Amino acid sequence: MTSDPIPTVALPGGARVPALGQGTWNMGDDPRRRADEVRALQTGLDLGLTLLDTAEMYGDGNSEELVGEAIRGRRDEVFLVSKVLPGHATRRGTVDACHASLRRLGTDRLDLYLLHWRGRVPLAETVQALEGLRQSGDIRAWGVSNFDPGDLRELAGVPGGEHVAANQVLYNLTRRGIEFDLLPEAQARGLPVMAYSPVEQGRLLGDAALRAVAARHGVPELQVALAWVLRQPGVIAIPKSGRAAHVRENRAALDLRLTEQDLRDLDAAFPPPRRPQALEML
Ligand code: NAP
Repeated sequence: MTSDPIPTVALPGGARVPALGQGTWNMGDDPRRRADEVRALQTGLDLGLTLLDTAEMYGDGNSEELVGEAIRGRRDEVFLVSKVLPGHATRRGTVDACHASLRRLGTDRLDLYLLHWRGRVPLAETVQALEGLRQSGDIRAWGVSNFDPGDLRELAGVPGGEHVAANQVLYNLTRRGIEFDLLPEAQARGLPVMAYSPVEQGRLLGDAALRAVAARHGVPELQVALAWVLRQPGVIAIPKSGRAAHVRENRAALDLRLTEQDLRDLDAAFPPPRRPQALEML
């Protein structure tokens, strides 16, 4: 079967990134899994899933080192995303954390650098540091993660805050709260939403409604869950898999067209939000 081309999402700066990327949380921690994990990431790159999401937090740098190994010799194919811990997000700390990430990743630049979640450091200070990194070329763009609509409004009032390039948040069939406000607001202003844990870390497996839709299409259940996330414009999904076979299944989610009936059945099992909900985090 031939695949459709990978759809892209435009960042506010104009760069286009694939709507389906690869997460890496918990990768690089188990030496026995390492070769399979590197192969899985490289399989994804071969299939066009060239946006890789990592963080200094993941395995205390293990994930970044693994990603560095996977992209060696092919850095230019990759849109590389990493994150600074809120405890490091001071003026000096952000720069040091970024340089440490670059060393572990074996590269001279990040394409996107995110504040992992909000901490105690004033936003204005973190943004100043991120803007400095952008000007020095260490990062091409910066964004945030786990920011709710109130956090985003506050960010908009900080000098340089208008340069935010993405917000990475939890979004999947069982976590639909952002559909009420955060997602439509982001879509309206052209701020990409990166959906993390798009298959709820595998816990969606075995759900009866998902199974019924998957059976109709003759595809694995998680492929339906991923296709459901990817149906939204302006959303980039970053499933994590350390197995090449799963990465291939995830790539195929881009070719799956959910019908109106599928969407109605999934809405019945996983109702959309009717009122604002506090942003969930994992
Ligand atoms: P996820 O992607 O929803 O789920 C990962 C789990 O699903 C793994 O156990 C994986 O197992 C399994 N899986 C993936 N594809 C599968 C398939 N086709 N068939 C069967 N099982 C499959 O959860 P996540 O890792 O929490 O989220 C994705 C990424 O988002 C993370 O890796 C990380 O990069 C990012 N993230 C960011 C934040 C944040 O605060 N910004 C928080 C959480 C996650 P196998 O490896 O065995 O395939």
